[in-house]
Amino acid sequence: MDNERRRLAIKGLVQGVGFRPYIYRLARDCQLTGWVANHSGGLQLEVEGNSTGIEKLLQRLPLEKPPHSLILSIDSEVIPAEGDSDFEIRESTVTAAQSTLVLPDIAPCNSCQAELQDSRNRRHKYPFINCTHCGPRFSIIDKMPYDRANTAMDQFPQCAKCQAEYTNPEDRRFHAEPNGCPECGPQLQLCDSKGKVLLTGLAALNETFASLASGKVVALKGVGGFQLLVDAGNSQALQTLRKRKQRPHKPFALLYSSLSAARRDCRISELEAKLLTSPARPIVLLEAKPEANARVHELVALGSPDLGVMLPASPLHLLLAEEYAAPLVATSGNLAEEPICIENTEALRRLGKIADRFLLHNRRIVRPLDDSVLRVVEDRPLMLRRARGYAPLPITQAKLSQQALTQSYLALGADLKNSVALSHNGWIYQSQHIGDLSSATAIEHFDRTIADLTGLQQRRPQTLIHDQHPGYSSHRWALQQQAPRLGVQHHVAHLFSCMAEHGHSGAALGVCWDGTGYDSSGIVRGGEFLLWDGKSQVEHVASLRTFPLPGGEKAVREPRRAAAGLLYEISGYMALQHQLLKRCFTRSERRNLVTMLEGEVNSPLCSSAGRLFDAVAALLGLCSQSSYEGQAAMVLEYSARGIQSSDSYPFDLYQRQSKWELDWAPCISALIHDEGKSLPQRAAAFHNTLANMILAVVNEIGERQVFLSGGVFQNRRLTERTATLLRERGFTVHCHSQVPPNDGGIALGQLHYAHCMAAAGQSAGD
Ligand SMILES: [Zn+2]
Ligand SMILES: [Zn+2]
Repeated sequence: MDNERRRLAIKGLVQGVGFRPYIYRLARDCQLTGWVANHSGGLQLEVEGNSTGIEKLLQRLPLEKPPHSLILSIDSEVIPAEGDSDFEIRESTVTAAQSTLVLPDIAPCNSCQAELQDSRNRRHKYPFINCTHCGPRFSIIDKMPYDRANTAMDQFPQCAKCQAEYTNPEDRRFHAEPNGCPECGPQLQLCDSKGKVLLTGLAALNETFASLASGKVVALKGVGGFQLLVDAGNSQALQTLRKRKQRPHKPFALLYSSLSAARRDCRISELEAKLLTSPARPIVLLEAKPEANARVHELVALGSPDLGVMLPASPLHLLLAEEYAAPLVATSGNLAEEPICIENTEALRRLGKIADRFLLHNRRIVRPLDDSVLRVVEDRPLMLRRARGYAPLPITQAKLSQQALTQSYLALGADLKNSVALSHNGWIYQSQHIGDLSSATAIEHFDRTIADLTGLQQRRPQTLIHDQHPGYSSHRWALQQQAPRLGVQHHVAHLFSCMAEHGHSGAALGVCWDGTGYDSSGIVRGGEFLLWDGKSQVEHVASLRTFPLPGGEKAVREPRRAAAGLLYEISGYMALQHQLLKRCFTRSERRNLVTMLEGEVNSPLCSSAGRLFDAVAALLGLCSQSSYEGQAAMVLEYSARGIQSSDSYPFDLYQRQSKWELDWAPCISALIHDEGKSLPQRAAAFHNTLANMILAVVNEIGERQVFLSGGVFQNRRLTERTATLLRERGFTVHCHSQVPPNDGGIALGQLHYAHCMAAAGQSAGD
């Protein structure tokens, strides 16, 4: 019987997931000969044998594919038979530039966890155990294709035993690129803050437990960068960490050994449990139980009823958490808002004054990846920070004309919570969270991430997309490049970000509420309603009433200034006699306020919902000065926790020129004088009022498809209340899930806007 030969090209997430051994076993099972190889476009194979065998392979291939893999397309062509005698796995061939997908880092699988705990196994307690189905990926890949030589494992030649596993197609470590063992793989090292090596191997790990138990701060080289660890029950250690890290209030995340350990301290829903134990192992915000007090000191999350919890993302974390047996604080290894450290020497330099001990290892981390953060809102995951475990998985792009999708753009995001994104052939590749572009280190990180993203995807984008804010570093970066540019208004990008997540490109009403967004009016925007006609126009249809922000930028960290501006807007000069302002400002500060407000000096007008939250938090005496972004709004949300009432305050809505204006003044006046109610009741009524305000505008505009975006919608109470109200009236409400509602989602929105404009035949770029 004549043999048939087929050449197949498979595209998708097919490298680093055990796809070649899978094909190898499948082909042999179907009694076919030929070969399979990685190449930079995905995977290529040729199979030869009788037609039934080939049919069988084609049928089974997509059905039995390895976990974590994703097939985008399979191209097949018939070619002349060659008569090879066996099926083999070939060296990679580097061919035509095409994008290929990179896998994120994956937490230890069950088989590896079992070996880690098995005292007879040669990898017993080996902190770098992994296999084809788990282990580091994105954090160790230098370039594609994904082969050991192109990763941080290039410095670790395998010992004979590991080599045998790696080359045996029947072994679960067959071509597991990060494969290694205590003989040949990466090693632990415990150093003091000057870099002097104290201990190595398991002894280093044991000494780490002792250090943590005695209240020391330990810097740990984790998966995507350094983390700082302390015992979560040790107030002294927590105080030291807060002081040294210059982080007085922002909550710390906790590392628990297992789901059951986390359950002792937190209420965990089924969905939350699924997120916690997913291969991405993100931080999930959970409601603390009263019992948590026994193990978690209040300094971990001051004034918050929630705890940020994660389970071990690597074997090293597993060993640490299991043997330590008490929850550990695990927070980013950086100073304030700087990017996290990834190199040993860099960590010793930058964290030397923060950590007492450094638990290091000798495997490189190729790029920094913060821990991802999620919370459950409306019974769905809501991404708050997208990094380790999720990046660089692509996001499917909304269906638009083929012509619009072939455009490749690079979106530069916003300056806060920055993240960049690249579009190519109907897919969007969003970078990991980069952070605030406020320091030289951060800009360097931004630069490197762009080079990294375009390098891995082997794409030179045709057009750059940036925020219109002239003061943004990302905008200035765009101006320095020799490429066509497109500026997208901040809140337009928010709307399109939420639309992109839902594959939506038709008419839409966006409720875009956040802290700060630039537009050409000179007003600090952030309480906006935008209407997209589904073709080519975005109309600004409504906004919150404006109020002055004495001190401008300073008001972001001082909610008391927003409160002063708000009161001044209501009652002018008299506002400065208000009890609250007398309490929060000294006499000379108040004189200064008058000068600024009366003279309209350094007191920009704002329509920001974020600042409105700040002002109310200050008016209720909850937070007059904050040490991190969003603190006042969080405190206000938390203070309303548990209140069921639907009480609300009055507000006004009127039309001014062609726009609607939402007036919060009646609400604020009522709230200030509502002394019959408890503080939590007033906080809840404020949230309810905002939801009513949104409903009132949406009713007037009438568009049925409503999208909620902007940092304010990280607030669960407001988001859930608003969505419920709108749905009751028959509106379709869309919220974020895969990308953050905050500025971490801006790059995705910039891309989607550009593609929609291209689909409408509008030129993108200036
Ligand atoms: Zn494994
Ligand atoms: Zn080995």
